[in-house]
Amino acid sequence: MTKKVFIKTLGCQMNEYDTELVRAILTKADFGFVEDEDKADIVLLNTCSVRENAHRKVYGHIHSLKHRRNGNPVMIGILGCMATGLREDLLNNRHLGIDFIAGPDSYKRLPELIEKCCSKEVEATGRSPVQKPFDVTLSEFETYSDVYPSREQGINAWIAIMRGCDNFCTFCVVPYTRGRERSRSPENVLKETRRLVKDRFKQVTLLGQNVNSYKHEGSDFADLIEVVANIEGIKRVRFMSPHPKDFPGKLLDVMADNPKICKHIHLPLQAGNDRILNLMNRTYTQAEFLKLVDKFRAKCPQISLTTDIIVGFPSETDTEFEDTVRVMEKVGFDAAFIFKYSQRKGTIAARKYPDDVPGEKKTERIVRLNQLQKEISRRKNRALIGSVQEVLIESASTTGSPGSYYGRSDGNKTVIVAPGDYAVGDLIQATVTDASPNDLKAEIAQPKE
Ligand code: SF4
Repeated sequence: MTKKVFIKTLGCQMNEYDTELVRAILTKADFGFVEDEDKADIVLLNTCSVRENAHRKVYGHIHSLKHRRNGNPVMIGILGCMATGLREDLLNNRHLGIDFIAGPDSYKRLPELIEKCCSKEVEATGRSPVQKPFDVTLSEFETYSDVYPSREQGINAWIAIMRGCDNFCTFCVVPYTRGRERSRSPENVLKETRRLVKDRFKQVTLLGQNVNSYKHEGSDFADLIEVVANIEGIKRVRFMSPHPKDFPGKLLDVMADNPKICKHIHLPLQAGNDRILNLMNRTYTQAEFLKLVDKFRAKCPQISLTTDIIVGFPSETDTEFEDTVRVMEKVGFDAAFIFKYSQRKGTIAARKYPDDVPGEKKTERIVRLNQLQKEISRRKNRALIGSVQEVLIESASTTGSPGSYYGRSDGNKTVIVAPGDYAVGDLIQATVTDASPNDLKAEIAQPKE
């Protein structure tokens, strides 16, 4: 009988993409899928190690699942970054009762790992920690380029153009949990994009831990994004994320010249102080970051910039934190994702630097930055009132007036568009009528297509 699988995805877009790969791999191997976790034979948790307490959330989820099952069997598999980073803990924790583990480069082996779990021999003998099937090998070559992800129908499709990271920022687990950088061939990415057009997707977002490291036989990221944007039928192309250390002028030229490439860059700052940036191994200074922002704005004045920031990195003083405040004020990001530093097992920072900034201090700093960002976002969004924005309509709005729709501007701002003569998937011109720190309100200016 077909086994029914439920996948819960935690963490970043790369994990969302990997879940789509896993669905494709398991569908090919004749597994079925259910939306209700309580009706699944197999529950897969695609985990993330980046945020604090991630493992506690996963453990809590498993306990609650087992409690709801009330003794009825369910097979549990752990995928993703936590599978690689916490393999020993996961396998040895008898209370959790995890059945198998697969790391980010081992998803093609999932049918085999599940089969091993189902085998009568193992059932009869009971599974000791060492017998539990697992594969967390990190590959230098696996890019899943031969798997077409099984996506939910929608407007945007993610395409991972590369996997892994070689940057070793001292706070980050990714190089340890996802391995070395490797890129897919342009031909392969183009093939997937053309298929997405046939499947009626309107936008693709090219994904990598550091897209500017993309390299394949003489092709760089600027070459790749240009050819993807030129595919007929694709209305918009986005990308996530570049690293400030190596944003090439060539990419900026391609972005400025091609109307299909959105004028939005997510550029993680992480900190505004040079000593802290150095401890983080970010390999740029505050001045270099600000110079890069000036370069963006000189070439592309309407560019929208968003960022990630960590407050309370080990030994960060109040004065050093003020440098981050100053950079935020100077740049005026359109949005910022701000996090408190927390140690990640196995990282360089966890080995070398005591987590010595008190919790209250981190809270104080994050509250301050969030307030500052809210004011900046409000100011920037309100400055757009009266302007005409190109909006890709994604779905009916759940928060706007009846009949209104939700979309995104070229600069990646959420836009609620008043009812009008347009539909999901349309690229429309809309006049901004109101704005808050989080979104824009707009009405159709003129139908485009
Ligand atoms: S660039 Fe730094 S923060 Fe980003 S994935 Fe690589 S190591 Fe982690």
